[in-house]
Amino acid sequence: MDNNSLSVSPLNNYCNLYGHHHVLPREPAMDAARELMTQLAHNKCIDFASPKELACKELNTDCLYGKARGKMFGVLSCCKSSGEKQILKAFSGQYQGRWEVAGWAPPLFDVQEFSLLTQPVERRIKTLGREAQDPMLSPRSREGLLKKRKELSQQLMKEIHGLYRLYNFQGKQHSLVELFADGSGIPTGTGDCCAPKLLNFAAKNGLQPLGLAEFYWGRTNKSATRDEGYFYPACRNKCGPILGFLLCGLEKNPCRT
Ligand SMILES: [Zn+2]
Ligand SMILES: [Zn+2]
Repeated sequence: MDNNSLSVSPLNNYCNLYGHHHVLPREPAMDAARELMTQLAHNKCIDFASPKELACKELNTDCLYGKARGKMFGVLSCCKSSGEKQILKAFSGQYQGRWEVAGWAPPLFDVQEFSLLTQPVERRIKTLGREAQDPMLSPRSREGLLKKRKELSQQLMKEIHGLYRLYNFQGKQHSLVELFADGSGIPTGTGDCCAPKLLNFAAKNGLQPLGLAEFYWGRTNKSATRDEGYFYPACRNKCGPILGFLLCGLEKNPCRT
């Protein structure tokens, strides 16, 4: 099932800020990742904590086979300071409009803060879009409204990026803007992949990563580059620039087994 050539490539990343090279293998997380695949296939739901009837209403896996198609899931195998093993899991982005689901790694920002920031601005952006469709408007006024809308959403994106806090194993933290040399060139969705969610959670909670594996689950993506049950390396455009930082300090605390 996972017998693709990519399945052996480790997470291999350069940290721009400090000029180190950090590597995290995939192998130690692969058994737990396969176990998660089995759970997804059997439960057909990502809420393993609630009673089945309740959980599967909103958080079922049907959405992964519809129009929105599948998504990436990730597993981080870690050990606690006691030496005991712990498995963390994450889904990329949101699941059915939710950033937080019990038992899964949270996003890199405070969800309440995120909603407080985005909701009013998104309403304003929608209103501007509606107003611009008024047939009575002169082309010039319409252009003005659309320009205003564009500025608002660009500004919002910048403020959203400012909410992300990235923690690493050196005990350092930075915002996304600080990690991208050109702050305006941050790709949409940066920090929302499984790898950053998992590493960030581990760093904040004193867990030492042993291995990380990411796989795709659901209907094949539009560009046909992702198939269900296959492992894939971390993405280059979004995760590439931040994983080096997130992995930094990893080697300082080797796990005792
Ligand atoms: Zn990514
Ligand atoms: Zn480093």
